[in-house]
Amino acid sequence: GSLPGWDRVEEHVRAAHERYRGNDDGAVADYIPVLAEADRSLFGVCVAESGGAVHAVGDADVEFSVQSISKAFVYALVCEAYGHEDVLERVGVDSTGLAFNSVMAVELHDGHPRNPMVNAGALATTALVPGASFAEKWENVRTGLSRFAGRSLELDGVVYRSESATNMRNKAIARLLESYGRIEVDPLEVVDVYTKQCALRVSARDLAVMGATLADGGVNPVTGERVVSAQVCRDTLAVLASTGMYERSGEWLFEIGLPAKSGVAGGIVAVAPGKGAIGTYSPPLDPAGNSVRGQRATAYLSRTLGLNLFASS
Ligand code: GLU
Repeated sequence: GSLPGWDRVEEHVRAAHERYRGNDDGAVADYIPVLAEADRSLFGVCVAESGGAVHAVGDADVEFSVQSISKAFVYALVCEAYGHEDVLERVGVDSTGLAFNSVMAVELHDGHPRNPMVNAGALATTALVPGASFAEKWENVRTGLSRFAGRSLELDGVVYRSESATNMRNKAIARLLESYGRIEVDPLEVVDVYTKQCALRVSARDLAVMGATLADGGVNPVTGERVVSAQVCRDTLAVLASTGMYERSGEWLFEIGLPAKSGVAGGIVAVAPGKGAIGTYSPPLDPAGNSVRGQRATAYLSRTLGLNLFASS
């Protein structure tokens, strides 16, 4: 099936925002100091259809740092550059059952990163981004994610500096990967590119368009530009289904039935292959690190728009 008509989708997106805007559960992330200053009342919901229509409600144009959601799109760019087999050999696709920044998960598997959505796998993935210098790798990440969004995304310097001053753990993970021979370039430069990619500014609208590009076989439905191949979209969405929502990925798939990725600043993107994507933003998180209002709104839209991949009707 396809999405209901424009008016129905618009109505459901408005209803999703209206229903959950009053929910005040959850806590804003504070392990990156500047994130603790986020306005917890912000709430944006956006649906981008694979035909190019966009429905945005509430604070859908407020910008925030993409954080871990960048992992999904950098993974897609690296799969596009190297292909399914080569990337699979370097970064697996199974869940760790451990926190996203677990060092234990690296130790348990001889330094082989289990998947690209935990920090070890994301660092190994960022290390693979094409570019003769780290400046070039960063520019390729920034312009690559911008093509998914259909506009030029920019670095949030305040978030970048705040995380750079406090990211000892990511530096340790990168050094650990280096010790296992899993990163062949300067690990601290890789952490720097990774920290920048996490500090790219996006809105819920951007997330919806980026997700809709994955839903649309790699063609941005708003700009018409091909960003990655259909095969890469399939690979990326499979990884998101099993590992995109931290340790709650199984529960998310059970309840909502869509591949998705969240980030600690409060963004979530959920993708309905062939149909479109939902982008949400709201800073308060549940204990697993997923935005509370964003999860509720996405669940509501999955239900009312008939998006659950496992539903036969
Ligand atoms: N930049 C954050 C980190 O590496 C991303 C965390 C997240 O969104 O899960 O710790």
